[in-house]
Parts: sequence; structure tokens; C-alpha cells
Amino acid sequence: MKPVTCRLLGVVLEESSPEELQAHQATVRSSVLEVLLEITKFCDLYLMERVLDEESELIAQDAQPKFPNSLLQLVFKKKMASFEYFDQLLFDRNCSSIKVKQENDFGKGVYADGDFEEGELILKDPILVGMQHSSNKFDCLVCSFCFRFIGSIELQIGRKLYFQSIGVSANGGCDGETFSAVSKDCYDAGLSHMEEDSHLRTHENLENCASSSSSKDNIPVPKEVVDSLMNGGLVLPYSTEFPLPSAISCPGGCKEAFYCSKSCAEADWKLSHSLLCTGERSKSLSREALSKFIQHANGTNDIFLLAAKAICFTISRYRKLKEDYLKEQEKCPSANALDCSDLSLLLEAWKPISFGHKGRWWDCIALPDDVDLSDEASFRMEIRELANMSLQLLKAAIFDKELFSLEIYGHIIGMFELNNLDLVVASPVEDYFLYIDDLPELKKKEAEIITRPILDALGDDYSVCCEGTAFFPLQSCMNHSCCPNAKAFKREKDIDGQATIIALRPIGKGEEVTISYIDEDLTYEERQASLVDYGFECKCSKCLEEQP
Ligand SMILES: [Zn+2]
Ligand SMILES: [Zn+2]
Ligand SMILES: [Zn+2]
Repeated sequence: MKPVTCRLLGVVLEESSPEELQAHQATVRSSVLEVLLEITKFCDLYLMERVLDEESELIAQDAQPKFPNSLLQLVFKKKMASFEYFDQLLFDRNCSSIKVKQENDFGKGVYADGDFEEGELILKDPILVGMQHSSNKFDCLVCSFCFRFIGSIELQIGRKLYFQSIGVSANGGCDGETFSAVSKDCYDAGLSHMEEDSHLRTHENLENCASSSSSKDNIPVPKEVVDSLMNGGLVLPYSTEFPLPSAISCPGGCKEAFYCSKSCAEADWKLSHSLLCTGERSKSLSREALSKFIQHANGTNDIFLLAAKAICFTISRYRKLKEDYLKEQEKCPSANALDCSDLSLLLEAWKPISFGHKGRWWDCIALPDDVDLSDEASFRMEIRELANMSLQLLKAAIFDKELFSLEIYGHIIGMFELNNLDLVVASPVEDYFLYIDDLPELKKKEAEIITRPILDALGDDYSVCCEGTAFFPLQSCMNHSCCPNAKAFKREKDIDGQATIIALRPIGKGEEVTISYIDEDLTYEERQASLVDYGFECKCSKCLEEQP
């Protein structure tokens, strides 16, 4: 076989066959098509490469302006054997009674491999990449890796009251710059005693940051109370019944990420935070550039932060695989020299994220109600440009190579937009106040002398959940049904960000496990309309029955 020199083009995430490629995306000569078809017989993935060797036959033509030369282009073979990956995931999660299978044309699904009773736990699915919404950070202090509440009941309440007192809350709109300044100050404030000047500084920053918080109806507590809640001076009655792990600072020194444990801090550092940390031990190329990227994301769409995490996750995995590979090479130099090129390592690193792919963000995002149908094209151009701006900022901050194109960035953002990825963790503050409320009359009266004014100061939204977006690799394989047999449901003991799937009725071996992506009590028309965002028309038994 004749050796050829190749350069990589970019990643095509669609599961395209060579024939489809020929029809839609690339001009491929018939001889190339034959080669590709031959390759697909023997491997799960194949590559579209641009050949630099002029004489070679294997040329994917230049007429692909949407793929800049520097990108890596990987074409996933149709129905690629991804199932080994899922088997491994299920094994890691100690979950032997379900399987991920491809049963029909609608893609993969999760199937029971044993019987489940009503109410039984089907799966706990740890987060692959996830984040707390920026605005939610004012309400909840959680571990940046597992999303458990941390600190103490007093600290959770004190922070919330502090933000209310300076006029920021989850509902208050802030621009990115203010947000960064505030969040930095507040984390400082939350963990150590507050300095007077930090108060002043924050006040200045917030002057133009209007708050629509419900706090206007609340009865504020004196500043000293807020301070002593945050610095541990005031201990609330019975709060020891609700112990929280103490907050551990980021090893990179950023004062933005906090953890419930050393192991969470280390795991996050290894997986992505080392590249996204703005602290002095950050592994990013430029902390200044990184701050600009974060500011842009906080001011526009915080989903960019999650996309950046997914990219850093892939880069970190790639570097680790490469390190392992080089070690292996030293031990026995000739082994695996062929299948462990940089590219196959990158492919391997990219695998977990690639399974979540649905479509490009700017193509698939639902048109907002206030955008006229005739302006759709320009709306999509605009958000594409927004993503481009974000990517340029991110590139300046972390990339040493041009590994990721706008196309890929768009696909990653799209994946978070289109999957059913809500991250919710209930607040222990709610449990705390319910506990006080349930105390015997005398004890309750005594406790309420202290807790009542605090509850009044917090107001109606006294216990906001931790809310965010996350990618759960196995939950995302579960298909939708309007009469599902399972649902994502957190039990009392489920106190972190993992997805918990519970059987809603008995499920027999071999049956598909389904969840509802929407409110299944809506009417047929409303349900179909809600599902448009997910890009399919539901044909579950309920829909078939109710179909007009
Ligand atoms: Zn944690
Ligand atoms: Zn950090
Ligand atoms: Zn349906």
C-alpha cells in the first residue's frame, strides 16, 4: 500500500456514512469512497483527511470552506460501537440491571436487564461535566464538583442575606463584569470575616445593578447578624442536626471554586479546572484572557462556561492518555505504535462528550418568542457570532493547539442546549426550617425567637435549590415518553448533583426505561410543542392514543 501524507481537517460529528458525506458535505471521489467504505468495515471510527501529497488519489477536495485547514475532522461511523463505552460506564457505576442498546432507528436507549419494582432505584448517574448557574451562586454555596451544599446552615443563610442586603439576588440582572467582582468579594466574604472596605467596594460595583428581588417585602436583620452568620459567630439552634462539609478552597487559589472534600478538589482540578482556574496556580495560557472569557460568558450566556469545561475535560483527558501512552512506549517501544497516534488519543479523549451530541447550537436553538420569523436567519447569524467571540476568548486563554473549531464549539453548546440536563440539588436550609417548624411547641417557640426574624428576612424564597446544567452520560441515553416508567427524582439521601432515576411502576426485564423530558400532564398539542426544542415528534402510546 502506498504511504500518503495527510493533514487533518476538522471534526464532523454527524454520524454520516461515506455515501451521505458524498451527497451532503464533501466532494469525495469515487475511489476515495471505496477506500472509506473499506475502512468502515474494519473500524468504529474513520477519518476524513486532506491529503497533501499531490499525486495521491486520496483527496477530499478543497471545496469545503466551512472546515478551516487546521481542524481535526473525524467522521463517526454510523451506529458506531459505542456500547462498549456504556458497558464500562455501567460497570463503573455498579449498575448491572440496565443496558444501553440500539433498538430502533431513533438512536440508543436504556433497557432494563432485570426487574424493577415501583419506587426502586434504577440508576445513579454522576455528572460528566456540569456547572451551577452563575446567578444561582448568590443563593447557594455548593461544591464545584459534586454540587453538595457546603459550609454550614449559617453560612448558607448569611451569604444569601448579605447578597440581599447589597441588592443582588438570583433575579437581579447583572452584567458580567459586576458579577465577577461581586462573586469574588462575596466568596471572600463568605469564608472569612468581612472587611469593611470590601463592603464598600461591592456597593460601588452594584450601584447600576438593578435588583428585582422579592427582598423589598422582607424585613431585614441588622448587618451584625448577617456578619456573624457568615463568620461563625452566631450558631442557630439545632443547626448541628444539619452538618455540611466545610468548604475547601480551590488548590489553584482562585477563590471562585469551593469543594466539599479534597477528593472533589483534586478530581475537578484534574478533569478541567486546572485549565479554567483564574488563580495563581492556573494551568491556562493566560489568566487575563481567561477572565475576559468568563466575563463575556457571564454577560451573555453562561452555557459558554459549560462548553469550556467540556473542552478542558477533553484536553485534560487527551494529555493524560498521551502521558500514559508515552510511558508505555518507553517500556516497550514497538508496541501499538500504529494505533496510538495523537489523533486516536484525541478521539478517545473526546468520546464521552461526543455521545451527547445533538446539533449545532445556532441551528437548533429554539427561536425566542420576541424574534420575528422573518428575522430568523439574522438571529442565528448573531448567536453564531456570539459563540465565535466566546471561542476566540477561550482560545486565547487555554489552547496550545487549534484543536477545536467554531463548528465543534457550536456542537458542544448545542449538546447542553438540547439534552435534558437540569441539575438540581435541594437546599438543606429548607430542611432546617421545616425541622424547626416540626419541633414540640415549647422548643419551637424558643428556637423561633432566633430563627423567625431570619426567616422573615429571607422571605418567600428562603430555600432556593442549587440549579445548574450538567451532562449525565447515561441519563442522556434515556428516551422520552409522555407516560414514562421512570423519572429523575432526588430522595432525601441524594444530596449531590448525581442524577437519580427511580422506577415509577414495575419494569420488566427487556423493557425500555423512559423518562419524560417535559410536563407530561400537558395536552397533546402542548406536549408536541414543548418537544420541538428536543427535535422530535413523540410517538409514545399516550400520544398515539390522543393524536387527533
Ligand atoms: Zn464535592
Ligand atoms: Zn480555581
Ligand atoms: Zn408522547
